[in-house]
Amino acid sequence: MLLDKRNRPFRDLRISVTDKCNLRCRYCMPKEIFDDNFPFLPKNELLTFEEIYEITKAAVEIGDVKKLRLTGGEPLLRKDLPELIAMLSKLEGVEDIAMTTNGILLPKYAESLKKAGLHRVSVSLDSLDNTRFQEITGRTMRVQQVLDGIEAAERAGLKVKVNAVVKKGMNEEDVLPMARHFRHTGVTLRYIEYMDVGNANGWKLDHVLSKKEIIAMINDEFPIESAAPSYKGETADRFRYKDGAGEIGVISSVSDAFCDSCSRARLTADGQLITCLFAVTGTDLKKVVRSEKEQLPEVLAGLWSRRDDAYSEQRLKETKKHHGKKLEMHRVGG
Ligand code: SAM
Ligand code: SF4
Ligand code: SF4
Repeated sequence: MLLDKRNRPFRDLRISVTDKCNLRCRYCMPKEIFDDNFPFLPKNELLTFEEIYEITKAAVEIGDVKKLRLTGGEPLLRKDLPELIAMLSKLEGVEDIAMTTNGILLPKYAESLKKAGLHRVSVSLDSLDNTRFQEITGRTMRVQQVLDGIEAAERAGLKVKVNAVVKKGMNEEDVLPMARHFRHTGVTLRYIEYMDVGNANGWKLDHVLSKKEIIAMINDEFPIESAAPSYKGETADRFRYKDGAGEIGVISSVSDAFCDSCSRARLTADGQLITCLFAVTGTDLKKVVRSEKEQLPEVLAGLWSRRDDAYSEQRLKETKKHHGKKLEMHRVGG
């Protein structure tokens, strides 16, 4: 079995299909930086669907990749996305295709995504308060549009989770209203600690509401208990409401790192293979797929076997590490 230097298998590939987005979340693409003059990738720099397919096929062949996740930027801005899903769902060995989306375009696409072979969506929503939602997302879209997206996904038969980034001074007051809203709905709400991905968001440790704090807030109103992970390497710690109202998850990449079981790689929209969310550089697979695609399995296997990333584990002990320019979240995908 292909293992990296820390004995971790390659199980999960996250594919970013665009670096563009219809929102400007403050912690990801602050609108002051990502304005009309921002140099997003030109079309010819984007991997085509065939190129994404070839790279994914090679990853499936050499690794133990069974799970794919489409992300961005906003993946639903990529034209004809269901075509890519249909191609990927034909790959033998792929058991699960998911997507992370801000949900705004789900009412339009949920059905065709499901028909093409998508299994699950994670919809990002950080507040149910419209004013705060618009402050966070930097645009004039409404919370109801995201809720409509969630409903459309459920109606189409997609499994739905909701991801909420929690940042001190931004939306701590939303932690409980979000829990109240999604209890008893069958939708698992997952809180995400605010992370130091990229440099544009000016991340500070003081802004992180930790897993411990989030759990304490919820447990005060709705007693919860730990639940076992559904599989090894699951990013979220699971908790269940003691009254049977369902489950929540907390992704604690800052306060409680899970690098030990990290089996993910990420492919950017322009074909960089990234072996850690906090990477400074990637490896250019676009060049390989465009000029010598038969080399892809060997190149990927070499990359994975040399992988030693454990940034979150090292973050608190080595604050000097990575003070250089990191790749931004809208390019790496979540
Ligand atoms: N646009 C899609 C969306 O928002 O779901 C997909 C891409 S987005 C980069 C993927 C996920 O990363 C979202 O759930 C988003 O909230 C999360 N994210 C972005 N920046 C983050 C940060 N600094 N810390 C924690 N999560 C972040
Ligand atoms: Fe766009 Fe998603 Fe980043 Fe928000 S988190 S700006 S929706 S890519
Ligand atoms: Fe994986 Fe890097 Fe995150 Fe650690 S910091 S869990 S290695 S992506």
